[in-house]
Amino acid sequence: MSEPASTFPQTDVELIPDTVARLRASFDAGRTRPLEWRREQLERLIALLGDHGSEIVEALQADLKKPELEAWGADIGAVRSEARAALKKLKRWTRPERVGGMPFLGRSSIVREPLGVVLIISPWNYPVQLLFCPLVGALAAGNAAVLKPSEVTPHTSAVLARHVPDYLDTEAVALIEGAVDETTALLAERFDHIFYTGNGSVGRVVMEAAAKNLTPVTLELGGKTPCIVDDDVDVEITARRIAWGKFMNAGQTCIAPDYVLVHEDREEELVAALDRTIHDFYGDDPKATPDYARIVNGRHHQRVARLIKDGDVVAGGQTDETQNYIAPTLLRNVSPDSDAMREEIFGPVLPILKVKDIAEAIRFVGEREKPLALYIFSNDERVQQDVLDRTSSGGVCVNGTILHLANSKLPFGGVGPAGMGAYHGRHSFETFSHRKSVLRRKLKRDPKFMYPPYGSFKTRMAKRFS
Ligand code: NAD
Repeated sequence: MSEPASTFPQTDVELIPDTVARLRASFDAGRTRPLEWRREQLERLIALLGDHGSEIVEALQADLKKPELEAWGADIGAVRSEARAALKKLKRWTRPERVGGMPFLGRSSIVREPLGVVLIISPWNYPVQLLFCPLVGALAAGNAAVLKPSEVTPHTSAVLARHVPDYLDTEAVALIEGAVDETTALLAERFDHIFYTGNGSVGRVVMEAAAKNLTPVTLELGGKTPCIVDDDVDVEITARRIAWGKFMNAGQTCIAPDYVLVHEDREEELVAALDRTIHDFYGDDPKATPDYARIVNGRHHQRVARLIKDGDVVAGGQTDETQNYIAPTLLRNVSPDSDAMREEIFGPVLPILKVKDIAEAIRFVGEREKPLALYIFSNDERVQQDVLDRTSSGGVCVNGTILHLANSKLPFGGVGPAGMGAYHGRHSFETFSHRKSVLRRKLKRDPKFMYPPYGSFKTRMAKRFS
């Protein structure tokens, strides 16, 4: 495990203005527009991840002890499948979209044009996926891009920094390593779009910097994702699906269930089933299994470990700061006013709260900030619909967790404090494109009706048809 708080790799901030200027010159010269260029970059991104997959997995393990399957699936695999889908659909996405309306004026269409030079800032929990999935959209849409990986996962940052210039066009894609100073220097530059994933405090910093140049932003933020459990569920399946979503990557997933609101009649059963599931997944000692990750660093370890005291520990609770280890932990009797119920947990600690009925769960969610995701477990379709109708969240998975993110036909993004904008699949392409309205007229016949002098007849007609 690494703890290099001050030894993360950094790019010289002095180089940043020239780097951005070089990318802008390439964009302005039209380098990134041809579909062949976009295709080649996407293919080379796929090749980078194929050729250096094992090295990247090792870096993810050095940073997070990320289980090998999770590293291949949720980081490398997620990007490769996004890139493959973009390659397949590129022609269709980029085709001008004919639209009807007012044919007497001419032919109307929407043309997707690249935005320019975009900045992608990513966090540490899925450091490959969250850097490169937005990049797939940026490249597919024909932009130049600056990538800023998180310094919190320095091994992964270093491996990506080493290989990106060997695979991607250095005249149009640059990777800047570093932390606050480097990101601040980047944010002083003018970009045509900023795509930021991370916490809301820095989201505000990004938006403020963007406002100076009226640069549009996509903010992929976090929040407390509730998991509502009705009284009619199959408790074993429910527990398995909740535990899988909660404890993968040791709870450091933006859409991990943050807390459970369970019908009071099933609380005891659910807690027991979750406890059994943790044993099934990770054995008697989760510290010993390669299938369980670590907290990313000492600061986050302290932050999450502190939350355990906010409830009665019914499973787990063990911590080891020498390894940044926190056991999969279930908490009961947690006060809604405690830190564990006010802060985003972002770790393997799961408070389980009882509710009298689903209406109480809906009220509980409604009294708090809109979450990034929401999970409802129920066999009753009316209950499912009621929750869908009466709550607001970035996305919902009914009777499951996390998986709504896996379908790239669904836009992935937050609402309210959980973020703005969305991506994945075609939605990424749209995020990094401008939808330009084009009306094509013929330079032939030119009725004079709309031109001055208007006179009373034309005015009467305008009045009549308005
Ligand atoms: P982090 O600490 O890696 O920060 C994210 C990025 O912001 C990094 O690249 C970092 O260098 C930069 N940064 C940090 N401080 C800065 C500052 N003062 N000025 C400019 N840039 C700065 O990651 P994090 O914020 O701890 O990430 C965890 C959060 O991200 C959680 O809240 C989680 O829910 C959220 N998240 C959201 C999504 C999503 O898709 N919506 C995905 C993953 C994580």
